[in-house]
Amino acid sequence: MKYFDHAASTPPHPEVIRTIAEVMQAHYGNPSSLHASGEAGFKLLKKAREVCAGTLGVQPSEIVFTSGATESNNMAIKGAALQYRSRGKHLVTSMIEHPSVYESFRQLEGFGFEVAFVPVQTNGTVDIETVMRTVREDTVLVSIMHVNNETGSIQPVAEIARELKQKYPRVLVHVDGVQGFGKVPLQLKDSGIDLYSLSAHKFRGPRGAGLLYVRKGIQLFPLLSGGGQESGVRSGTENVPAVVGMAKALRLAKEQEAEHVRNWRKVRERLVEGIASLPELELNSPAEGAPHIVHFSFPGMKPEVVLHCLEEEGLEVSTKSACSSKTSEPSRVLLAMGKSMETAQSGIRISLGDEHTSEDADLLIEALTKAVKRLSGLKGGLK
Ligand code: PMP
Repeated sequence: MKYFDHAASTPPHPEVIRTIAEVMQAHYGNPSSLHASGEAGFKLLKKAREVCAGTLGVQPSEIVFTSGATESNNMAIKGAALQYRSRGKHLVTSMIEHPSVYESFRQLEGFGFEVAFVPVQTNGTVDIETVMRTVREDTVLVSIMHVNNETGSIQPVAEIARELKQKYPRVLVHVDGVQGFGKVPLQLKDSGIDLYSLSAHKFRGPRGAGLLYVRKGIQLFPLLSGGGQESGVRSGTENVPAVVGMAKALRLAKEQEAEHVRNWRKVRERLVEGIASLPELELNSPAEGAPHIVHFSFPGMKPEVVLHCLEEEGLEVSTKSACSSKTSEPSRVLLAMGKSMETAQSGIRISLGDEHTSEDADLLIEALTKAVKRLSGLKGGLK
């Protein structure tokens, strides 16, 4: 099988697997314990924090380790809203956020917060002016993702953060950076971004590990109470092997970013060119989108049928995104872009990894062409 679902999860890097195995075997002491084994765990954690911070260009004390971006996003959004509730009850996000962001805001609405869900333009990006018009004096937090996980549309988060901080210095800015890290450059330091979420398994680290960058001086209401680990904001014994593995993966992804991006662009271009003329295909990814994602629909066609045709050819792709592929709901992201219900119900996502080449693009083009031919002959297949 050839795997083309790297936006859902990536194969862990061999060096990451080796590191995690070593740490699991040799360093099982609780980093909070005072004996030598505990001290060894603490040192590994400290080193991993330094590596993560160094890679992101921030301070080690600004990194909070979590179980992944779902937790980082919940921690940033609910933690900021609760901590700073005396400043106001108004929050701003976009209509295309990942469920871990979107549902966090929906939950806060139930607790009396007022949330503005900013629309997107037809190319899937939020308009800076619309965000600026939505923010008010009593806005506490603005949360906009860097790269959309379905279409790969890139949001102008650096510009939004800059303009927001000029006009509303007290408004906090959160960015879900999960699909952007290692794919689309973004500088955190002096950017105006206060909170930034990552998940290790999207950049060849382990599942179940992530981080939240919390700019110095910002307090978050802790969602997990307990022993006070992670500066009191995230209690619970740290997952040292996973965190060390994440730090390694983070550094490798950053070091190899330019080379990977060059390759993804080449493969993506070839793929898009090759499928563009397929009958009924509607491309949902903007041309200037992230280099690793190609998203398209065959309106009116069940995407699972196309997916299974590709699977028969040994190719694994995704319908929508992994987090929502088990629901029959139309894509909230595509609807927000003004796409039809039929288009929003028939999305297919191909997402690339480090190992892919132009030959892989050719395999996909061939398999999709074959699937289209086969399905267009079926009643109720392609229209
Ligand atoms: N945000 C985005 C944009 C994502 O793509 C994902 C993963 N699908 C998450 C957050 C959540 O990450 P995790 O499932 O690792 O918690």
